[in-house]
Amino acid sequence: APAASSLSVSDLHAWYGESHVLHGMAFEVPKGQVVTLLGRNGAGKTTTLRSIMGVMNKRKGSIRFEGRETIKLPSRAIARAGIGYCPEERGIFASLSVEENLMLPPVVRPGGMSRDTIFELFPNLKERLSSGGTKMSGGEQQMLAIARILRSGASLLLLDEPTEGLAPVIVQQIGRTISRLKAEGYTIVLVEQNFRFAATLADRHYVVEGGRVVDTFLNADLQSNIDKLHAYLGV
Ligand code: ATP
Repeated sequence: APAASSLSVSDLHAWYGESHVLHGMAFEVPKGQVVTLLGRNGAGKTTTLRSIMGVMNKRKGSIRFEGRETIKLPSRAIARAGIGYCPEERGIFASLSVEENLMLPPVVRPGGMSRDTIFELFPNLKERLSSGGTKMSGGEQQMLAIARILRSGASLLLLDEPTEGLAPVIVQQIGRTISRLKAEGYTIVLVEQNFRFAATLADRHYVVEGGRVVDTFLNADLQSNIDKLHAYLGV
């Protein structure tokens, strides 16, 4: 039998004001797996993560997390249920130090990752405990953003383009972190433009176009479908 889905999205619609941008999004994320949402700019990937996190005012359809319907829950309740969102702009408090950022996770659940484990995972954050968010490099800011949601005790991580704008060596570091989180049993939805990076981590890829999933590939089948994928992504 297939592993139980940790997250199951079906017939999801979402709007910005009158503008209808998700048109029946649907995908599954089995517990402990990493899936990516791939697609061109404006396809609806960020809006999908925002809908799962409950920050789209107008949304309908079904989003089940660990079997429980969350489509009508407010975002705090969704966070309390164990979902953590790292937005593309990272959402850390630039005027606060690393220490202060870690003390201000959106929600803390029992089982939130301990400070010791966080610093073991991100040794460079420990060295910068007292420095302010803006003085950190892009990579450090990204690590701090991930650390904050781990601190909150989320078990499903929604990561929006975590590697965007980062140097290759930092991209590798983020990749190792994501692999380790996967090995520890976290379930991860990754929005990525860089599918070469995504291919090293993901179990399955969903191609998003016009606010819905138009194709899906197992990671193992990615190479044999590379021309198709290039066509979808316009690369
Ligand atoms: P990107 O990589 O550019 O973020 P994406 O696949 O994440 O692409 P979304 O950001 O989800 O796409 O955008 C989906 C659609 O919603 C696009 O047509 C976009 O122009 C529109 N949109 C995004 N944010 C807003 C907003 N705040 N108000 C109105 N429309 C928006």
